Amino acid sequence: MSTKRKTILSIIGVVFSIALLGISSVLAEEKILNPAIAIVFTALSWVFVLIAVFYAAKIDYGTGVYECRKCGHLFKPTFKAYICGAHTLTTRHLKCPKCEEKSWCRRKTAK
Ligand SMILES: [Zn+2]
Repeated sequence: MSTKRKTILSIIGVVFSIALLGISSVLAEEKILNPAIAIVFTALSWVFVLIAVFYAAKIDYGTGVYECRKCGHLFKPTFKAYICGAHTLTTRHLKCPKCEEKSWCRRKTAK
């Protein structure tokens, strides 16, 4: 499967699971569902959200490399650094393995 396709699928997964969580909250709130079923349904929705977010993060990690702002070196951070690093949509605050400087590294799609 292509990288783009995986990324799109993972985004759809996150959106869908959050929508499911929203629907289950409304159904529970409006007492449309039996409370016990509502709890199970909401818990399952949370599990789906976590799986979808984790999967999306894994796809994003697996398909991206980062460019150091200081020296231009392209590198792949450790999964821990990837998860823990402050980030925006296209940049992540990482330590470059070459010059050992921390900077807001721009994400590039790995070939
Ligand atoms: Zn560097």
